[in-house]
Amino acid sequence: MQLHIKNTFTKELPADPIEQNTRRQVEKACFSYVTPRIPSAPSLVHVSKDMATTLGLSEDDLETQRFLNMVTGAKVLEDTAPYAMCYGGHQFGHWAGQLGDGRAINLTEITHNNKRWALQLKGAGATPYSRTADGLAVLRSSIREHLCSEAMYHLGVPTTRSLSLALSGDKVLRDMLYDGNADYEKGAIVCRVAPNFIRFGSFEIFASRQDSETLKTLVDYTIKHFYPQYEGGTKEGYLGFFNEVVQNTLEMIVHWQRVGFVHGVMNTDNMSILGLTIDYGPYGWLEGYDPGWTPNTTDRQNKRYRFGNQPQIGLWNLLQLANALFPLIEDAAPLEAILQTYHTEYPKKYIAMMREKLGLQSALDTDIQLIADLEKNLQASETDMTIFFRNLALVSKDESKNVETTFFAFGEAEVHAERSRNAKAETESHTEPVEVPSHSLKSAFYKPEEITGTILSDWEAWLLAYQKRLSQEHLTNAERATQMNRVNPKYVLRNYISQLVIDEADKGNYELLNEIYTLLKKPYDEQPEYEHWFTKRPEWARNKVGCSMLSCSS
Ligand code: AMP
Ligand code: MG
Repeated sequence: MQLHIKNTFTKELPADPIEQNTRRQVEKACFSYVTPRIPSAPSLVHVSKDMATTLGLSEDDLETQRFLNMVTGAKVLEDTAPYAMCYGGHQFGHWAGQLGDGRAINLTEITHNNKRWALQLKGAGATPYSRTADGLAVLRSSIREHLCSEAMYHLGVPTTRSLSLALSGDKVLRDMLYDGNADYEKGAIVCRVAPNFIRFGSFEIFASRQDSETLKTLVDYTIKHFYPQYEGGTKEGYLGFFNEVVQNTLEMIVHWQRVGFVHGVMNTDNMSILGLTIDYGPYGWLEGYDPGWTPNTTDRQNKRYRFGNQPQIGLWNLLQLANALFPLIEDAAPLEAILQTYHTEYPKKYIAMMREKLGLQSALDTDIQLIADLEKNLQASETDMTIFFRNLALVSKDESKNVETTFFAFGEAEVHAERSRNAKAETESHTEPVEVPSHSLKSAFYKPEEITGTILSDWEAWLLAYQKRLSQEHLTNAERATQMNRVNPKYVLRNYISQLVIDEADKGNYELLNEIYTLLKKPYDEQPEYEHWFTKRPEWARNKVGCSMLSCSS
């Protein structure tokens, strides 16, 4: 196993001089050296081959003891000195002071193909930042992080990655619902990978302590390695850097809204300076399209981090970052102007993204109303977001087609006709084959019996308007379906699917984990062999812990 170790974080940034692993406030330092805890019986559960290849690791490397040692913390790699990062953060809208890597330990940074990667173990033991907790993670939450990181990557959403999932062999005590019923669970360790793990809170901590010197050192470091076009230590450079972070964050959130991902804990310590989705905790996927939904039980009261509020929270978090950077810029007006661009850009990018979901190539002003009406209809009766948008590609722009037929069922004749049209388009344009499942839009409704009266007439009106809008576009039905299927995933990591994987894995059976990992590597492909995962959440999962209700306990 040949790794090109090239540490910059520990080389260029100030270290905590104390090396004892005791919980404390760490001042004027970006990190503390700490050794991972030795797991009692480490064993690999799953490796993301895709990530391994990206790091330059071969299939043979993954079989070695050295690899197992590395990704479980059993043995520290030569020439490396693991460390935990110091950061603070606003949690649920309130300044929380020092947080830091309480259960994450960075191993080292490596480079491969001119790309820089930091490797980080999550759940490898306590650090000076562990506060009252144990620094460990359980299998349940580690499966969720491992699978979701990789699923998001394959969906094209900016994210931290996961190289591996391993059992530590130790038992970890958790009170999953914070109701006094603590129980032992299997301990696990995920090896996360990202160009860096710097968060908004990494800057906030120094600003809060009026430590402008360390703040500047960290900002200059981040710019040098990750936003090099803004190097030079000038006010303009810092503003350019901030502007880029704003754009990256905005892009990431537009992607979340596109695929129906709800982060669940958008605290500023969970916001990456690279605009990557980070810290997969009590996240969830929209099943019924509901902007008010949050998977996080801790957030049930205020629903601060609900689906529809994510764009707003992104801006709020960026405002905290602006405050943290202020000491280096000392001019509020340009920072405010940049934040203002988020305000004006987000709606534009959102509409552009929704146009893509609807398969619209051109931009008409009336699209805004069409999208607003759709959102209203989607909420009138519980409608599965993923199934709805995927099946929307089946709507024909041919106005002679009865809307009711489109809506309620694609009869055999239509499916057949659609298939031959697709096959023809495929030979003509060499596009990928578009499989047409024999589904209807109706199959996205959780309570089809509710689709009567005004709900039905509103849907009919919307579909007519949509068909009319499509007739103004030049793409054929098949071409449009191909475009739409590239942005409307067929398969996402539904909450209940994770839970099924977890239940199996708890028993030591990893077949389903492997299947779901494979499925989610190609979320936009039809994959007929996995068609059974293209279904609504089953009723048993509606109110089940782990499926619709998640806590931060992990
Ligand atoms: P999170 O909500 O997962 O982003 O975590 C918030 C803070 O709590 C971070 O500083 C984490 O490192 C810390 N934390 C969460 N779980 C644990 C744990 N089991 N042991 C130590 N620190 C933890
Ligand atoms: Mg966190």
